[in-house]
Amino acid sequence: MDLLASAVPPLIAWYEKNKRDLPWRRDRDAYHVWISEIMLQQTRVEAAKGYYLRFLERFPDVFALARADEEEVLKAWEGLGYYSRARNLKKAAERIAAEGAFPQTWEGMRALPGIGDYTAGAVLSIAYDLPYPAVDGNVLRILTRLLADGSNIDDTATRRRFSALLKEVYPVQAGEFTQALMELGALVCIPNGDPLCLACPWQGLCRAKREGRQTEYPVRAEKRARKVVPVDVNVLTAHGKYAIEKRPAKGLLSGLWQFPLGAAPPGGALIETQRARHVFTHVEWEMTGRLVRLEEEIPPYVWVTAEELKEKYALPSAFKPFFGWLK
Ligand code: SF4
Repeated sequence: MDLLASAVPPLIAWYEKNKRDLPWRRDRDAYHVWISEIMLQQTRVEAAKGYYLRFLERFPDVFALARADEEEVLKAWEGLGYYSRARNLKKAAERIAAEGAFPQTWEGMRALPGIGDYTAGAVLSIAYDLPYPAVDGNVLRILTRLLADGSNIDDTATRRRFSALLKEVYPVQAGEFTQALMELGALVCIPNGDPLCLACPWQGLCRAKREGRQTEYPVRAEKRARKVVPVDVNVLTAHGKYAIEKRPAKGLLSGLWQFPLGAAPPGGALIETQRARHVFTHVEWEMTGRLVRLEEEIPPYVWVTAEELKEKYALPSAFKPFFGWLK
């Protein structure tokens, strides 16, 4: 039996004994798996728990999500970032609701907005026990260690190759196996610091451990440095209201509300300035915030009270440093 195939049974046995009790593991409902996987792509497990439970309270099933207002969905997503994911969730929910149920084929899943190979594999295997792997950076880390494989894991070809290798060994308990791989990466074969090999079900099999080279894997391409962009943020206030506007429909934070950016409109009284920084995946904003009082509520902005702004409008967390000015 090849190494990968012989690694399956001990991993599943380990998972049965060691899996964490997480809110999305209480059943195998496809909607639950899908929402949790999308959230977990950007948020740590501990932080995602609260978001997940609140999201389900608000949108208990795919039909409720399909019916919801987009602004309401974005509001529930506030703080998780990557709002395009929330928009895609809503679009995909509309399609699933129109069909009456989740697709149970690879093609059907992949055709849904925002569902890539990873999420399609996660939902199909966890919810339906279909043999489709969900390969992300965590799974690549543990597999490259197990096999002492020095391929660059940022290369799509590497991901495809590991996906194909895994597919060959997928057991009938596909959902357990997918989750066991994720759990091993989260609890034992961890990304930072030394992996906890003495607690690992693969300690007798792992090539990297045998060679004492665990921390040399995975091999990654060098990351490009983030671009630093100066951004002027204007918190304009008039008669107890604040100006907001929508960002363009394309690009970073597309279609979300923001405080007006750029030069402040003329004629206002500068009350205070504050600096802040926000790190996105590929850029970093170095912000200079200005609180400016105006005589009147000028166009083209939408003017709202502080309460309305916090309750109804999903402002990205990049702008949170200036919320202290809202009265
Ligand atoms: S033995 Fe160590 S390096 Fe190998 S898979 Fe287990 S935790 Fe990772």
